[in-house]
Amino acid sequence: MSGPNTSFDPKQVASLSEEAVDAMVEAAVSAIAAAGDLGELKEVRLAHAGDRSPLALANREIGALPPAAKAEAGKRVGQARGRVKAALEARQVELEAERDARVLVEEAVDVTLPVDRRPLGARHPLTTLMERVADVFLSMGYDIAEGPEVEAEWVNFDALNVPPDHPARTMQDTFFVGSAESGVVLRTQTSPIQIRAMLDRELPIYVVAPGRVFRTDELDATHTPVFHQIEGLAVDRNITMGDLRGTLDHFAAAMFGEGIRTRMRPSYFPFTEPSAEVDLECFVCRGESVGNPDRPCRTCSSEGWIEWGGCGMVNPRVLQAVGIDPLEYRGFAFGMGVERTLMFRNGVSDMRDMVEGDVRFTMAFGVEA
Ligand SMILES: [Zn+2]
Repeated sequence: MSGPNTSFDPKQVASLSEEAVDAMVEAAVSAIAAAGDLGELKEVRLAHAGDRSPLALANREIGALPPAAKAEAGKRVGQARGRVKAALEARQVELEAERDARVLVEEAVDVTLPVDRRPLGARHPLTTLMERVADVFLSMGYDIAEGPEVEAEWVNFDALNVPPDHPARTMQDTFFVGSAESGVVLRTQTSPIQIRAMLDRELPIYVVAPGRVFRTDELDATHTPVFHQIEGLAVDRNITMGDLRGTLDHFAAAMFGEGIRTRMRPSYFPFTEPSAEVDLECFVCRGESVGNPDRPCRTCSSEGWIEWGGCGMVNPRVLQAVGIDPLEYRGFAFGMGVERTLMFRNGVSDMRDMVEGDVRFTMAFGVEA
């Protein structure tokens, strides 16, 4: 066994000599000064102050020295590391300041330069109108309901009390998928969504259903084979026609302004009983153009009223078809053409403008996110 190495001369440990440690500090300080950016400084830090740096390795050798020599060597290496650390910190501050100044210069934007004006895409006014209508009903506690555009004939017609011999069911009005016997159609109205809502949902039901519908019309100024409807349905105990009327009045006020009046005219739809057409008081002239040739109104053709949509109390046979007891529950339903609403609301006179996708048409409505 050997005893402590008392005869060890610290001067003989080359890496701990004053000259050697000074040289390490000098090398570190000059490398730090030479670092041109923060990335280079990081490498210098690793090389001269990291775990494998000469000073760190020298520090480890102190432990092997005799006790008398430890203090002196420890002080020397500790001070050396302190100087390197201080130099690193000072250079770090300098380089960060340089970087910040450079970023300010390089990323400055000349706001007076002309720019390439690239128009943002505008959403289609039909889409934004449908969303606006949906929002009115969401705020009244309705849900949004959806259904497929390719629909079972039973849901599109039979369940809605449209008999098999009804003219609307012929190929002259309806797109069949495959043959006329396929039992599958492109939905001709959004009313099948009512059927699906009543089949799928728990009672009571309050839904609004915007959607695309299809009929075999030619495209002209007032017809298009693809158009949009928005449909509302409420099924609950003790629902009356008064509820329907109040709902439509609120809807009209939200869309066309407070105080706008509605009226109902008796009508017929297979899926409602009784049924009514809903007219809207002309929101432009408020009826003042009627019998007043000096103040004609283009929006209502000086009639004072605008046909808006259809509505009624859900036919008990429809409730029965979906398994709801008509003695316990009643409902109301209404539907509006979205294109039609947009036409009189925004003075669009040609249906084709809405389907042709010309950006000059949509841009006129402004860009809505
Ligand atoms: Zn008018």
